[in-house]
Amino acid sequence: MKDPLIGLSLRLPSAGGHNLNSNYPAAILRGGGAPIAVPMGAYDYLDEYADMLDGLILTGGGDVDPQLFGEEALPQVPTFDRVMDDGEIALCRAMVQRGKPVMGICRGIQVMNVALGGNLWQDIPAQVPGHICHRSAPQPENPVATHPVTIEEDSILYALLGKKETMTNSIHHQAVKDPAPGLKVTARTADGLIEALESADGLVIGFQWHPEAMRDNPDSHAIFKWFVDKCRK
Ligand code: MN
Repeated sequence: MKDPLIGLSLRLPSAGGHNLNSNYPAAILRGGGAPIAVPMGAYDYLDEYADMLDGLILTGGGDVDPQLFGEEALPQVPTFDRVMDDGEIALCRAMVQRGKPVMGICRGIQVMNVALGGNLWQDIPAQVPGHICHRSAPQPENPVATHPVTIEEDSILYALLGKKETMTNSIHHQAVKDPAPGLKVTARTADGLIEALESADGLVIGFQWHPEAMRDNPDSHAIFKWFVDKCRK
């Protein structure tokens, strides 16, 4: 059987801001899958992409438009990219409809949650009293872990890592607030914020941190290996 073809949502350079970095395809390759970039904004081809792909990774990036979960934007959320938001939400739903695996990373867990009916904290410093530091690394490519997350024992993540706690990097000011129907919380930081979600069948899974950037971390590799294998089925 061929190795699975795994899409990475790609922000078009014309839109500026965050672009896909090479950690994502490298992590898929290490896990045994074939990475391919899927440009957002190609709305006419989303069904074609969803038919072709064996799995999808929603990548990191900027803020999600709060109107997509029924809120007006706070002053701390001045910019967003609706081409990226709308494309990722549509492709995520198309993959879920086909029963194909989707993994969300950082912004990706937030997009995944909004696509499936959940909402977000727009700005952790403004909305979550007593929060710990979730912006402890200056670069999205930063491989250094800075805060632990506590993992729920009744979860795929726990079965995969075999422990209650793992150290993660953290480069976000938004976070999942209420999980979408069908998604359960599988990891949190000490301040109670949600750091991982999964569906019961494991076809939808998300992480608020950047496992792809922690290149030498065994837990990060285990996550990508697991996801690639899930896409193989
Ligand atoms: Mn964090």
